[in-house]
Amino acid sequence: MVRIFDKSKLKTDCENCDAVCCVATKFKLPDYYKPPRTPCKHLDQEHGSCTIFDKLEDEGFTFCRDFDCYGGGLAVSNLFKEIGKNWASDPEIAEVQFHTFSIVYFQLVKYLHPDRAIEIDVPDDIIEELKPFTEQALDMLAETADPFEG
Ligand code: SF4
Ligand code: SF4
Repeated sequence: MVRIFDKSKLKTDCENCDAVCCVATKFKLPDYYKPPRTPCKHLDQEHGSCTIFDKLEDEGFTFCRDFDCYGGGLAVSNLFKEIGKNWASDPEIAEVQFHTFSIVYFQLVKYLHPDRAIEIDVPDDIIEELKPFTEQALDMLAETADPFEG
């Protein structure tokens, strides 16, 4: 089955998201390395909000404002809301949620920007293991699916 995504409808919704990009991703600044699957030092974990959002540019975090998850963050957050757990409430589910987000985001970028170089740091066996989660999240975002393909 081939999913079809309507890019105009794939929007970020940070207010309703579990701030997964602020934890799942890794980035490196001259004076700060944030490892993957670790909360950013500026994340208010209780409220899931950024403590420097009004001055991201001044603090050298311009890329945060520019980041577009294409709706992947909200889909993964909603999926785990249905399960009744998320990374903040249950450390045991955290890695699953972050890997799920990474895989979903990777798939969305490959679909929307096939020429963009992107790597995924999730091992193949985990990608396979998490398919029940990632497929559900992608289905939440898909506009239509062609049952005659694949
Ligand atoms: S994952 Fe997407 S929706 Fe969630 S906080 Fe990040 S940019 Fe916003
Ligand atoms: S600086 Fe703010 S928006 Fe950027 S990763 Fe950290 S908490 Fe998230």
